[in-house]
Amino acid sequence: MQGCGNCKSEQVKVIYAQWSVSVASGDTYWDYEVFCGECGMYTSRSFSEN
Ligand SMILES: [Zn+2]
Repeated sequence: MQGCGNCKSEQVKVIYAQWSVSVASGDTYWDYEVFCGECGMYTSRSFSEN
């Protein structure tokens, strides 16, 4: 997990996370969204696990 996409703060809460698998490649993905306690911005990200 990374911090806020706006201010780089690590004072964030994960408010949404969804795990999924790509049918084509078999890779697993996480889509997640965090809310920053410092600046109040929401940041959406996704990453894949190899
Ligand atoms: Zn922030």
